[in-house]
Formats: sequence, C-alpha cells, structure tokens
Amino acid sequence: MHKMASGQLSRAEALACTNCRHACHVMLYCDTQNELFGQIPIKHIILMQMRFDGLLGFPGGFVNPSEESLEEGLSRELLEEIGAVVPISVENHVESCQSPASTSSTGLILHFYAKKMEEEQILELERSAASTAIDHGHEVLGMVRVPLYCTKEGGLSSFLSHSFIGTARQQLLDCLLRFGLISPQNLCQALSISVATHKRTTKDLKSALALMKGKQQ
Ligand code: AMP
Ligand code: MN
Repeated sequence: MHKMASGQLSRAEALACTNCRHACHVMLYCDTQNELFGQIPIKHIILMQMRFDGLLGFPGGFVNPSEESLEEGLSRELLEEIGAVVPISVENHVESCQSPASTSSTGLILHFYAKKMEEEQILELERSAASTAIDHGHEVLGMVRVPLYCTKEGGLSSFLSHSFIGTARQQLLDCLLRFGLISPQNLCQALSISVATHKRTTKDLKSALALMKGKQQ
C-alpha cells in the first residue's frame, strides 16, 4: 500500500483496509461580520465540542463502511451529536490517516472533513445541538466556538492550551491554515503564547494538588 507523507492515506487507500475501524469527524464553519465587544473581528465561527471525556474534539464518530458510505456515517453521527441533518459529501473530505495511537492489529483510520456553511445555518446547528440532539448531556457536553483572535487576556492561545482528543488540535491547526482562516504568523504567535499559558496551568494544577493533599490529612 503506497502511503502519502506522514501516515496520510488517500480516501480510497484508507477504505481498502476492511479490518480497520473507521471514524469520521468534521469541522463545520462559516464567515461572520460580528465583533467581540463591538471592536474585535470574530471573522469565522468554527464549531468544536466539549466531549464526555472532558476533551475538546470535532463532531463525528465511528462509521461502518460495510453498511454505509463514510459520508453517510458521518451525517448519521452529526444527527446524533448536533440534532440536525448536515449533508456531507466526498468534496468535503480533507484527509485520512492512520490514528497515531492505534497499532496495526487494532487499526483505526481517521477521516477528516470540513464544510463551510452560512452563518444562519451554523447558529441553527448550535441551537439544535443544545435542544434536540440525543447525545446532548451524554456523549457531548456542549458545542463550543474556537476564538481566532488574540486579546491580552488570551483567545486562541488559551483555547489551544486546553486538552484535545487524539489529533484534533493538529486537525484544527491544519484547517486554519489550509482554508486561510488565520495567517501563519498569527498562528505561530498564538502557539508560542499557548506554551507559556500551558506552563502556568501546570503550575496551578500542581499547587491545587498540593493543597488537596494537605486537606486530606
Ligand atoms: P468518537 O466516537 O467521536 O469518540 O470518535 C471515535 C474514535 O475516534 C474515538 O476512539 C476517539 O478516540 C477517536 N477520535 C475522535 N476524535 C478524534 C480526533 N480529532 N483525532 C483523533 N482521534 C479522534
Ligand atoms: Mn463523537
């Protein structure tokens, strides 16, 4: 099997692995003219979710290519997690790769999609995700928007310092650049602030743990 760069597979190569498990996730996004505090351009709304495991990730889940196409499976998952019909087609496919965490015997192939929508549609999805989605409060604790701006309080840098499922952070960064949603310079800057934020978080967690241990005695 010919592999593309860094574990990447074409959609067809990925589907050829019939004894692999397959999971599909999608980045749903739109442009917006809205501004934060009436002055900071929000530019794009990108939907992610707080998952049941406390990690940030993209909507989607396991699909069964022997019973449904990857895209049908992804739409089925979106109906459960967002509570609305979101048609996904092959044109929305971004990349497929072997999950870095999986071994060859328990192969998991991750398929990633992106779909640009109208702002009103994205707002509607946020409403249905919190009301009619059957996974709400179970597998999904809530949809969240990705802040793309940087203020002195944080923004994208703080968002990126949270914990993500699997390769979700990298999928987000790749798509931000691929679709021109942020400049490489701004992304670099946000990431470097993020590393510093993460160090402070580690320190906070260590002192919280020390405090708790003290209370146990
Ligand atoms: P889900 O049903 O959404 O949890 O996804 C199915 C599988 O894909 C789980 O085993 C997750 O660990 C994994 N997974 C979910 N999202 C991602 C992601 N963005 N990158 C890598 N693995 C993921
Ligand atoms: Mn899921």
